[in-house]
Amino acid sequence: MVKRVESSDDRVGNGSSSCELRDDVAQQSGGDPRLIDLLGLTRSKLAETLEPVVDRPFRVKQIYRAIHQRGLDSFADMTDLPASLREQLSARFSISLPEVATEHAAADGTVKLLFRLEDGKTIETVDIPDGERRTVCVSSQAGCALACQFCVTGYWGAGRNLTAGEIVAQVRAIERRPRPETHGLNLVFMGMGEPLLNLDHVRDALEILLEDISWRRITVSTVGILPGIEAMASWPRRPQLAISLHAPDDARRSQLMPINRTYPLADLIDVLARFPLAPKEKITFEYILIRDLNDALEDADMLARLLGNLRAKVNLIPINPDSVLGERMVPPSRPAVNAFRDRLRERGMVATIRKQRGDDVSAACGQLRAPDRAPRGFRRSNLNF
Ligand code: SF4
Repeated sequence: MVKRVESSDDRVGNGSSSCELRDDVAQQSGGDPRLIDLLGLTRSKLAETLEPVVDRPFRVKQIYRAIHQRGLDSFADMTDLPASLREQLSARFSISLPEVATEHAAADGTVKLLFRLEDGKTIETVDIPDGERRTVCVSSQAGCALACQFCVTGYWGAGRNLTAGEIVAQVRAIERRPRPETHGLNLVFMGMGEPLLNLDHVRDALEILLEDISWRRITVSTVGILPGIEAMASWPRRPQLAISLHAPDDARRSQLMPINRTYPLADLIDVLARFPLAPKEKITFEYILIRDLNDALEDADMLARLLGNLRAKVNLIPINPDSVLGERMVPPSRPAVNAFRDRLRERGMVATIRKQRGDDVSAACGQLRAPDRAPRGFRRSNLNF
């Protein structure tokens, strides 16, 4: 069995009994405890929650379809329901989409949205045009306790877990913003927070989102929370898995990512070797390249040896500098990045370089933040390589 790490500020809880569920969802409904928000409820939880007013299963299906396929957020607009039922629903429930507080558009078409949640917390979500499709970078927590040294979210510090409704709402809000040139969404859980420390709510959100987006188009990225990966492995429907790796040995990974002290590389690789993959599926390993820290060709050799027995692909990400991260966090030169990729390929690895997107509005990888509060900052004394 692997050790467990809890999110440091799980104010909404991870409970899943129906009683806890009702407390949980009521908390995000405009501050009115009488109204229960329905947006983050899976089909079975919706049926259970609506039971006091809806006794026929086909009505539950109609309401679920109205929320998730028709995109309605008002019961009054559900005109296929009897007027008396619409009134009862409006008196007891809500369908909450958070307020978009600000939005910033980058020169490359990437748009970063800042959502203000009902309790005043803020989260960022990124809408990235991607050929004929668009990719949504989704947040799972309003901050992050894990303090990865290359990440602005980690610099800002812990926040609470998002509810399933707050996660689904980010996607629904992006869907409402038409981009005529694109069709269909890819989702990456690579925004603020560690998704597998908010497992129950992320799972509920995924159950809803996987109904209309293929599992091959949804990726959950984790620093390697082993109990969460083991849980994901047992889900009947799951998205693709990505691992934030960023160093080829424990010494450097523990300095860059304190969570590595709890879940070291050997344990991570062992769990991943048992992760059930579909035909042709690979686990993605994200590797942020930082000049003179992890970008030597010998590091590429070590990385290839570490991952050699897995069905893996490596996505190289030249670090996006940010004033809060300090002067050591700069990317290698482009030739050095290419040489690292080529060395991995020579060693038989699938390796690509991620295109930088939205960096001029701080929407690129590792740059999202929670400006509703002052940053916690990093203790840097241990960054000594
Ligand atoms: S990289 Fe992910 S897990 Fe690490 S601090 Fe940033 S948001 Fe948290």
